[in-house]
Amino acid sequence: MDSLDPARHSRLCRLDALPRGFLDCPVNRLDTLFEGPTLIRLRGERRPPLFVSVLLHGNEVSGLLAVQQLLKDFEHRRRPLPRDLWLFVGNIEAARYGVRRLPGQPDYNRIWAGGEHPECRLADELLDELRRQPLFAALDVHNNSGWNPLYGCVNRLEARYLRLARRFSAVMVYFTQPHEVLGVALSRLCPAATLECGLSGTAEGVSRVVHLITELLAAPALDATPPEPDFELLHTIATVRVDDADRIGLGYQLERYDLCFPDDLEALNFRRLDADTAIGWRSPNARGLCVTDNDGRNVTTHYLRYQGEFILTRRPCVLSMLTRNISVIYQDCLCYIMEPYPLHRDNAP
Ligand SMILES: [Zn+2]
Repeated sequence: MDSLDPARHSRLCRLDALPRGFLDCPVNRLDTLFEGPTLIRLRGERRPPLFVSVLLHGNEVSGLLAVQQLLKDFEHRRRPLPRDLWLFVGNIEAARYGVRRLPGQPDYNRIWAGGEHPECRLADELLDELRRQPLFAALDVHNNSGWNPLYGCVNRLEARYLRLARRFSAVMVYFTQPHEVLGVALSRLCPAATLECGLSGTAEGVSRVVHLITELLAAPALDATPPEPDFELLHTIATVRVDDADRIGLGYQLERYDLCFPDDLEALNFRRLDADTAIGWRSPNARGLCVTDNDGRNVTTHYLRYQGEFILTRRPCVLSMLTRNISVIYQDCLCYIMEPYPLHRDNAP
């Protein structure tokens, strides 16, 4: 693999048409069509463009499958796109190997706020390009490695942003950290949402993305009136991480591991948990979990407590992104802690 060539990651490739074979190309063969991360500017009948980003994580294929399906449909019906569509195809090399990122690569969804990696220059180049003209709206499409409901994320609480995410799902998450994600950068440019489509490639996620892009391409404008209160909005307030030195197991196996989590851990995602809900077990020698708030402060004892072997919630909360994938737990985090975010009169958009 050619992943050590830094020039390949620091330059944005640009195309004004789909490369031949794109619509049927398997995700692990995209590297035969593209030289690297690529912006494809497709003309439609109306401007400004809708921007859609797929494959920032190489093992999250729902966004790619959705745009392939949608563009194939327009091609078969010999219809022009009703609006310009700008498509960014991200970590093609990781996609070749079916992984989130390759060893030595940064996380492609943490490069959008500057930094030292060559990939941060690529990110700056794309954002410069996007700043040059208005955008209609922007979507960044992802999957979760564990079971979660489909949900849309916003990084601003303005009406057009909430309405955009609401078109995708009645479950919505508002977050400001991590701030290095593409969604936060896009939110400064236009109404933007990150779409979390459940497990990679599952049919419902793909079809909802197809539906949303189709709707947005056809929509003359985005509604700026406050949305109906027919959705659940959760606010991410903290991140739970494990210590690299702790060995992690699934199921109760404290004789072998430092930290253990139940086999059906993912069933806890997006459920309203009471105080004193057990989320796992820890051995006496474990370093244990570390919870940090959005300002990076250690708030572990505010949210969690230990009682004997049990790891318990200290207060009611909602968890997201719990996964059985141990390497994701080490690489990313164990989960996020969320709270319902009521849109009262004082914080209504
Ligand atoms: Zn992702």
